Amino acid sequence: MKTILTTLPEEAAQIIKNGGTVAFPTETVYGLGANVFDAKAIAKIFQAKQRPNDNPLIAHVGSLEQIKLLAAEITPIAQKFIEAFFPAPLTLVLPKAKKVPLTATANLPTIGVRMPENDLALKFLKSCGMPVVAPSANLSGKPSPTTWQAVFEDLSGRIDCILQGEPTEIGLESTVLDCTSEIPLVLRSGAITLEQLQKVEPKTRLYKLSEMETPKSPGLKHRHYSPRAEVILISNFKFQIPDSSAFIGLNEPREKFDLIKVCKSIEDYAHSVFAFFRECDRENIKTIYCETVEEKGIGLALMDRLKRASQTS
Ligand code: AMP
Ligand code: MG
Repeated sequence: MKTILTTLPEEAAQIIKNGGTVAFPTETVYGLGANVFDAKAIAKIFQAKQRPNDNPLIAHVGSLEQIKLLAAEITPIAQKFIEAFFPAPLTLVLPKAKKVPLTATANLPTIGVRMPENDLALKFLKSCGMPVVAPSANLSGKPSPTTWQAVFEDLSGRIDCILQGEPTEIGLESTVLDCTSEIPLVLRSGAITLEQLQKVEPKTRLYKLSEMETPKSPGLKHRHYSPRAEVILISNFKFQIPDSSAFIGLNEPREKFDLIKVCKSIEDYAHSVFAFFRECDRENIKTIYCETVEEKGIGLALMDRLKRASQTS
């Protein structure tokens, strides 16, 4: 299949209305979208990404009213978070409406809902006229795409269209917050931090995988965000560097690396890390050393992604 490249949100929206798949920019990472009510179009997303069927998709809305099409109930706690944050890099997990196909939610009775904070995404979603389910627009397991070129690298010829926008601002996926019970649970950390959520609802807690038998968010168990190169986390510089090594972190290393990215801030580190992983793979880097950061604010989300990228199984 030929992948159409366009900068026009209306042209991309028409492809969604015709049952196709479109990659589009958001403030977090690029998403691969399809009409939420079209099970055939949703199947194309899983096929293009080679995504395991038990990994649910996030439904993106262009207006707050559209949330009612997706959720059987907007819980009072969810309402508070919507008012405080939407549009935002925050996904709320709610009981799903009957009309939403189970393929969208990987058979879960709940659905993740998000309104992105990005002009082009909102124009595109409004033009679609319906919510659009979209996981990250990468091949499953690879680092999430933060540029349209990264989407092209993974999915050219496998999807109908790429809506070409700017590189994404945040660079890490949205915070996922379960709002189906009394205590809101952060299932995945992101740019909306635990501290910010607790200001709205002090009961909010981090979900720990070990606490319960089956993970609440099935996607959490899959290998994620991985370049071909081995990823190693470091907190000091006292080690022997093998050939074909790269470094990313906040402090300039004294050692010689083949590729170095020194980031201005934790935000810049989060923004740059996935694109850096992809660059390392293109340059045939074998080992990527990632400097650890304090697990606070967006540092928590960054460390979560770095730890997953460094897992070997
Ligand atoms: P991606 O956009 O590729 O990061 O994938 C979406 C992720 O959102 C999934 O891997 C899950 O971790 C999470 N998610 C989406 N829907 C739900 C849901 N109904 N319940 C729990 N987690 C969800
Ligand atoms: Mg993903």
